[in-house]
Amino acid sequence: MAAIDADVAILGGGCAGLSLAVRLAGSGVRVTVIEPRLEYEDDRVWSFFRTRPDPFTACVRASWSKWHVSSGGVTVPRRSDRLRYESVSSGAFYQLALQICHAAPNIDLRLGTSVLVDPRLPAMHGPWRMETSAGQLTSRYVIDTRPTGRTSGYGQSFLGQEIRVGFDAFDPEDVPMMCFAAPRPDRVDFLYILPFARNEALVEVTTFGAEIPDISEHRRWLECEIAQLARGQSYDILREERAFIPMVLPQSGAPIAPARFAHAGLRGGAARPSTGYAYQRIQQMADLCTAQILRGVDGIDLRLDSPVTRFMDGVFLRVLQRRPDRGPALFSALFRNAPADRLERFLSGSTAPIDRVSVMASLPPAPFLREVFTG
Ligand SMILES: Cc1cc2nc3c(=O)[nH]c(=O)nc-3n(C[C@H](O)[C@H](O)[C@H](O)COP(=O)(O)OP(=O)(O)OC[C@H]3O[C@@H](n4cnc5c(N)ncnc54)[C@H](O)[C@@H]3O)c2cc1C
Repeated sequence: MAAIDADVAILGGGCAGLSLAVRLAGSGVRVTVIEPRLEYEDDRVWSFFRTRPDPFTACVRASWSKWHVSSGGVTVPRRSDRLRYESVSSGAFYQLALQICHAAPNIDLRLGTSVLVDPRLPAMHGPWRMETSAGQLTSRYVIDTRPTGRTSGYGQSFLGQEIRVGFDAFDPEDVPMMCFAAPRPDRVDFLYILPFARNEALVEVTTFGAEIPDISEHRRWLECEIAQLARGQSYDILREERAFIPMVLPQSGAPIAPARFAHAGLRGGAARPSTGYAYQRIQQMADLCTAQILRGVDGIDLRLDSPVTRFMDGVFLRVLQRRPDRGPALFSALFRNAPADRLERFLSGSTAPIDRVSVMASLPPAPFLREVFTG
């Protein structure tokens, strides 16, 4: 292979790109990360049921052993002695990742730089070539984490504000995970609260649906929920976050990835199709990718899900899409019936057959069986 600038080019230094760079730091592999941002902000928290350690455990901001869902005035509580729901602060994550990358002689982190067009592989065994805003770059591997920019199709949309109120409004021991609004024929709406302290929480309105709700509608709904939580008193807004995360199944029979190339992060299908949880799967992909790069494999394979898991995600998604009015009842049944930890492990991305079977066995059978046979 002709002389090349880097062994690995990572396109995008967000959660997935930095997670991979951190794992490759200190290895014998020369890594270039291309990232348009010049500075990182504490722009989100990543929350998930932790099932595995990762290099960012020091960035956990809060952790809970109790959570609940509620629908139609009925609350279903859950707790775990072994599993915790955790929130990783993106501000702390970015800071730690940048510190590790800057200290590693093999990582060239190019902030303020963008990839301008898709990378090209002019010769099968030659290097990848990329045009960036700082000139051309060649590399042996390309890991592309740039966002698709996709803003339509089935997915979850949410708008949240981290607020501070002047009195004890929250129970910092227990996460209100899904407080469902009245069932609707077109979408599933719920409120999600992360209680960081008695007087501080991230309050988020969320919609699963085929249409992205108008931002002003979400904002009115959020203001209304916060006004109730703050009992009409004044409160401080510390931070706001907003996103659309597609909930789609990867194409079956997807085209074979070109040599020494992979999509990772959300771009690579890291979001669990049926739930949108992505953070822990991004970490899992980073581990897989690191191992394959260090082994020098040609065809990088970052698929996380077995065909059975994809099938189950598909059924779950189709039920949610076709019968959104059943969404609150379905989730409530899951939280009520699934054995301790199994549901949480499944939501987080576990592909263990025992977790899948327990979750399916906890659902009211009618809509699921119909979906299996007609879908
Ligand atoms: C507000 C918010 C809250 C979320 N909360 C959770 C949660 O609680 N739990 C969970 O599991 N998941 C959550 N997610 C989903 C998911 O975990 C995150 O979106 C995560 O950041 C995805 O990582 P990523 O690397 O794929 O994308 P990003 O972190 O968005 O990184 C992509 C990077 O590509 C860069 N880029 C863009 N254009 C170019 C270009 N032309 N050239 C080079 N680089 C480029 C961007 O600047 C960015 O840094 C949340 C998402 C958002 C937006």
